[in-house]
Amino acid sequence: MVSSNVKRLLPLWGAVLCLLITPCLYAQSVADPGLMAEIARIKAVDNHCHCGPAGVERAAKWRADDPLGAPPYPAVVRLRVDNPEWLRAWRALYGYQSGDMSGPRVRGLFETKLRLLREDGEHWPALVLDRAGVETALVNADELGPGQAGTRFRWVPFADPLIRPYNGGERLHRLMQKVQAGTRPSTLAAYTTVVVTPTLERWRRDGAVAVKFLAAYRRALDFAAVPEADAARIYEQQACGEKPSPAGEKALEDYLFRYVAREAGRVGLVVHIHTGNGNGPYFNNGNANPELLEPALGDPALQGTKFVLLHGGWPYHKVAMAMMDKPNTYADFSAQTFYLSARALSEVLRDWLEWQPEKVLFGSDAYSDENTPLADWEEKEWLMTTTAREALALALTGMMRDGEITRPRAIEIARMVLRENAIKLYHLK
Ligand SMILES: [Zn+2]
Repeated sequence: MVSSNVKRLLPLWGAVLCLLITPCLYAQSVADPGLMAEIARIKAVDNHCHCGPAGVERAAKWRADDPLGAPPYPAVVRLRVDNPEWLRAWRALYGYQSGDMSGPRVRGLFETKLRLLREDGEHWPALVLDRAGVETALVNADELGPGQAGTRFRWVPFADPLIRPYNGGERLHRLMQKVQAGTRPSTLAAYTTVVVTPTLERWRRDGAVAVKFLAAYRRALDFAAVPEADAARIYEQQACGEKPSPAGEKALEDYLFRYVAREAGRVGLVVHIHTGNGNGPYFNNGNANPELLEPALGDPALQGTKFVLLHGGWPYHKVAMAMMDKPNTYADFSAQTFYLSARALSEVLRDWLEWQPEKVLFGSDAYSDENTPLADWEEKEWLMTTTAREALALALTGMMRDGEITRPRAIEIARMVLRENAIKLYHLK
């Protein structure tokens, strides 16, 4: 039984409690300004983007009467064309001063972007990195293009065609041509020695620092340990025109995934794997849970290979975090930079930075979308790098205020995450 006096005082106690709690909550939602200023100055290494090459050809598909355009399917909030945060990117990249996101001013902005693409030509991609404070970007693409030569852009080709000798399509065909393998070898041993290993060696020679697997878009990431003899039998059945069972097809891919990962490690290429949420409205998140990779990452034969869990497995980011215990496993937070606000991302980062700060890499996942010319790779590179800096500042401010780290250590961790961890991992000069 509560006395009537106590009942009357309850709202008052509530108010007092609110006042006591509120400063604590706010303490972690505002970054320390000095720390933020330091972080803003750090030249970043973007671990994963799809930064575009120079050239105005892509503008052929843009429409001046609809400069914002529309994504092909409903985008998440921060990628929508009406996200007011694009204004910040437009100001930084094109000097856009207005707060308008429609009407004649935005059509003028569209013209400005076209003019800069033309005038800056081959310099344009590096100029975008300059504005975003990015020193080096790892570009995931079949090949680098105009304006991406030199050390500002590092190459990360797709390794998926290599693990699909019978379904690798035109991409595998082109890779085979590059290593002078005219027709597909008739045995698995010949395929791996004539096509797979020489391709990895060629990529390394041509400047690649890592290879990327997009496999989770097609299948689950459970790459099992398959004996070579079993994989060879499945390969040779197909060479004779027999169609393998789905289980047989998976087993051959599983074998080749581990072969590629082992050889990549041997020739000095890091292995990037798409984990967690993906592009498209019907992406199967369960297939992309990084937990499925655990047997492969723990395979003693693959411990000489370094793996990066791209996108940090989000929404399985705690699983990815636990996996950073493995000496060969890293994670980046690319794409989380647009799935999440800086505030929400800071919570993921704080968990990770309290766990294995040496394993955390910044990535933007800035990609091109011809449907949305003013929310394209340039705008994403700028906005997502900025979001990463703000999220880092929030996470590190909280850790500083809770007495977990000193200010010098906070700055050191920020440098590690934004650049030093990547420089070490890829031996960048
Ligand atoms: Zn990507």
